[in-house]
Amino acid sequence: MSEKIVFKYIDIPAADKLSVYREHDGYGNLKQLLTTMQPSQVTEIVKDSGLRGRGGAGFPAGVKWGFLPPQSDKPVYLVCNADEGEPGTFKDREIIEKSPHQLLEGMIIACYAIGATRAYIYIRGEFVKGAHILETAIREAREAGILGKDVLGTGVEVDINVHRGAGAYVCGEETALLESIEGKRGQPRLKPPFPAVVGLYDCPTIINNVETLTSLPDILANGAEWYRQLGTEKSAGSKLFSISGHVRRPGVYELKLGTPLMELIDVHAGGIREGHTLKACIPGGSSVPILTATECETARLDYESLEEQGTMLGSGAVIVMDDSASIPHTTSILADFYAHESCGQCTPCREGTRWMAQILHRILAGGGKPEDLDLLLDICDNISLKTVCPLGDAAVGPVQSAVTKFRSEFEALIASSGASRSVAATKSGSEV
Ligand code: SF4
Repeated sequence: MSEKIVFKYIDIPAADKLSVYREHDGYGNLKQLLTTMQPSQVTEIVKDSGLRGRGGAGFPAGVKWGFLPPQSDKPVYLVCNADEGEPGTFKDREIIEKSPHQLLEGMIIACYAIGATRAYIYIRGEFVKGAHILETAIREAREAGILGKDVLGTGVEVDINVHRGAGAYVCGEETALLESIEGKRGQPRLKPPFPAVVGLYDCPTIINNVETLTSLPDILANGAEWYRQLGTEKSAGSKLFSISGHVRRPGVYELKLGTPLMELIDVHAGGIREGHTLKACIPGGSSVPILTATECETARLDYESLEEQGTMLGSGAVIVMDDSASIPHTTSILADFYAHESCGQCTPCREGTRWMAQILHRILAGGGKPEDLDLLLDICDNISLKTVCPLGDAAVGPVQSAVTKFRSEFEALIASSGASRSVAATKSGSEV
C-alpha cells in the first residue's frame, strides 16, 4: 500500500511555489509549534516517532540530535545533506524540485529543536535545477517572514543557505561534506570527534538527509504514535524508494517500511520487462550486497529484514536486473565508480578499489584467470573496516556479494576466455 507523507504534495501542480504550498496547509502548524512547544519536546516526539535517517545509515534522527553538547558557547549548525550521489538513488531530487518548502519547513523545525539559527543545504553540483528551485523557495520564505530573524512573528530566528558541491560522491559522507562547505578539499575526517560535538567551523553540527527533514512537519503535526503505526516495530514510518533498471515503471514510490520487495517491483513498478524474468536486485543503493531472485521473493523493505538477509536498506535505491543482465559487467561498472570516487586518503581504498576495477576489466576482456575470484575476495577483506570512511565498505559490498552469489557466472566467463586462449595458442602453434 502506498503512503504519502513525504510525497503528499508530489502530484499537486506548482507545489514548489509558496502560495500553492500554503493553500494546501504548508507551514500551517509551524507558528503554533514554535510558540507552544519547547525544543526538548520536539526532540522527544522525533525520538518517540522512531524516525531513522533516510540517507543510508538509518540512525535514529532524534537520538542523533541528543548527541549535541547540553551546553556550548559556540553556535549550533544544521546541515541538510542533499548530496545525493549513490548510483540508483534519485529520491531527494524529487523532493527538492517538487516540494522544496516542505523541506524548508522541516529544517525550521529541526533548527528550533537543536537551537540552530543558521542552516545549510549542501546540494550536489550536478543538481543545478534543484539548487535554483531551493534558492527561489528560500527567497520566497524570507520575503514572507517564514525565514529570518523573526520566523512568523514568533521571535525564533532561522535562516538557510544553499551550498553547491562540486560533484564528488565522497562529499555525501558527512565530514567530507563539512570540509567542502568550509572551502577545503572534500575529504572525510577521522571520527571521533563526531560532528555533533565538533562539526562545521568546529562548532556542534547536526547533519540530516533531505527525506529525513522533510518527514518532520507531518510527524510533528500528527504525533509520534501516528508515525509509529506505519511500518514495522523497529522501522517506523514510510520511505521513498527509487526503483530503476529492468522494470516497466521505474520511478520513486513512497511505501510503508516493511513492504515486500516484490510488491514494489511487481505492483508499483509494473513488473519485469515482457519476456524476461528477475535475476537479481540491489535493494539499497549501489553500495549494498546484491540479492538473488530467490532472496528477492522473501525480502521486505525495512532495516531489520534486509540486514537479516545480509544486505541493507541503505538509501532505498532498488536496482533491478532481469535475465539479460551480466552480473560481471554490472559489478565492473560499480567497481569503476568507486575507484573513480575514492578520495585517495587511505591506502586500502585508494589502491584496493583500483585493483578490483582492473581485475574485473581483465575478466571481461577475456584475460581472467581462475585465481582472480579469490583474489577479488581477498582484496575485499583487506579493504573492509580498514578505511577512514564508509566508501571503502561501499566499494566492497557489490563485488563481494556478486562474486560469492554469482560465482558460476564469473567462472564461466573465465573458462570460456581460457578455452579461446588455448584454441588461439594451438592455432598459432600449428601455424609456426
Ligand atoms: Fe577516502 Fe576511500 Fe579512505 Fe573514504 S575510504 S577516506 S573515500 S580513501
